[in-house]
Amino acid sequence: MPDWRPARSCCPYCGQWSVGHSCGLCMRGTVFIDWEQFVMACNACHGSWPAAGSSTVCAYCRQPYQVEYSDSAVVVEAEDQVVATDGDIVYVLKQGVLVVVHRRHYPGLGSW
Ligand SMILES: [Zn+2]
Ligand SMILES: [Zn+2]
Repeated sequence: MPDWRPARSCCPYCGQWSVGHSCGLCMRGTVFIDWEQFVMACNACHGSWPAAGSSTVCAYCRQPYQVEYSDSAVVVEAEDQVVATDGDIVYVLKQGVLVVVHRRHYPGLGSW
């Protein structure tokens, strides 16, 4: 079952949310991510592309940052910084890359 959700990211530098990424193909749609297959798609032009390794520029502080998407395989280490959480999705700054982790596979993990 695809698990489509609106793609969001949280700037690791200033903490501002970027909600409703606009589509780079048609410039008018909203981008969704499927957490089953790590695919992103636009709800207007229906284009889709792999979610891996996208980069973005913060609309607030203009810092570029790279975004990786992962399921629960990522290990959060002591030097990593949890930037934000959004339900079962956790945003971790890991060596300068914002890693967005879907942690539904660890229901018993508790809060990080
Ligand atoms: Zn920022
Ligand atoms: Zn589009």
